[in-house]
Amino acid sequence: MTEEERLVKNNRIREQGRLTREKRKGQICRVYRVKIDISHFTQAQRVHMKMLFVEAKWLYNDALTFMNDNDHDINDYDTTIHTVYGLDKDKLPVTHELEYLGSQMKQSIIQGIKHSLKGLASLKKHNHTVGSLRYKSDYVSINLQQHRLTYRFYDEWHIGLQGFRERIRIRGANQFWNIHGIELANAKLLNLPDGYYLAVTTYCNKGGETRKYKPEIGIDMGIKTTITTSDGRKYKVLIEESERIKKCQRLIARRKKGSSNQYKARKLLRIAYHRLTSRKKDIANKIVHELLEHEHVYMQDENLSGWHKGLFGKTIQHSVSGLVKAKLIHNERVTVLSSREPATKYCPLCGKLKKDMTLADRIYECECRYREDRDVHAARNMILLSKKNTCGTQGINAFGEDVRRRQKCCNADLVELGSHQSARGGSSPKEESRG
Ligand SMILES: [Zn+2]
Repeated sequence: MTEEERLVKNNRIREQGRLTREKRKGQICRVYRVKIDISHFTQAQRVHMKMLFVEAKWLYNDALTFMNDNDHDINDYDTTIHTVYGLDKDKLPVTHELEYLGSQMKQSIIQGIKHSLKGLASLKKHNHTVGSLRYKSDYVSINLQQHRLTYRFYDEWHIGLQGFRERIRIRGANQFWNIHGIELANAKLLNLPDGYYLAVTTYCNKGGETRKYKPEIGIDMGIKTTITTSDGRKYKVLIEESERIKKCQRLIARRKKGSSNQYKARKLLRIAYHRLTSRKKDIANKIVHELLEHEHVYMQDENLSGWHKGLFGKTIQHSVSGLVKAKLIHNERVTVLSSREPATKYCPLCGKLKKDMTLADRIYECECRYREDRDVHAARNMILLSKKNTCGTQGINAFGEDVRRRQKCCNADLVELGSHQSARGGSSPKEESRG
């Protein structure tokens, strides 16, 4: 290719990229994960799949050595090479042949390093302390840059991968297969503890669909109840560390250090932990979905990691509040209140701040005879305080009226609830201590 042809080609690619970015502005990006079914793989295919990740690791580590040893620029790294250098487990130099990795996969691995370097550089610019990139012992995600080139969907049940001659069976494409006008962009081949997956990035046009939302809602995150909504719903989620995890940990401790039996036990532990996170993610997704059925969600930027360090470490670790918060925080229909706002102390009726609230007080009681469940009260205050910040006192007064009206019926509810609880007798304190 002559220099002139190269420039023409580069210009074409740049123009194409610009057009795509323009188009993406009006589209919604969603990532779907499908599972690769290896139950019908031949032995050669199994090896191929496994070696993709091993070779990716070799190439990645070789590129790091290239940068570190000679102080080279990563842009000078030749991605067309077939031999890389590395160290075996006794730290002796070895050469590896790259047999399975496709050209675009190689490029995307180096591209990944460039992205990471860029990220580190920008962190450094903002005065964060940064280290350097470290060698990997596992490479778990290979980027497949282009649909129809590095990977392709033949139908709902089969895909092709660069380098594989046969079609590969997948499961789960029904999640997006029938969506009208969907476009497939890049995908990631994942090597997770419980199998291989393909995470496909898709784009579809923002439809002019008018969804009917439920009225706005405030949420309060807590330790006793994970999430409480302003309309009185309570989500209590606590996922215990499974027996299996404890068993695996004991197994690892008993095995000889560095032995292959210990390695196997570690693999089992990874699978067990993966299952635990999957369960958490599932629950978090369901909660987020329910919350986003409301027109607008108000929440507080609670310092969950602070709780984590403090007394409640274990409880928070096994709850899903962190996941829910992370999912909500970037949504455009969610308002996040600063953590300094006195959501629990503020009285919506008289506007006084109750100073002597402790964690043990489960009911909020004000001098002005306002009385409400502590968490529900905080959740309602999320809406109130957000509005106070945006539209001044007028919004509050209107809301105050609303509270006063609601207060009448809520009081009736509360009395009923109280009598119900006392009728149950001894069971409720026990519940409290568990939560
Ligand atoms: Zn009051």
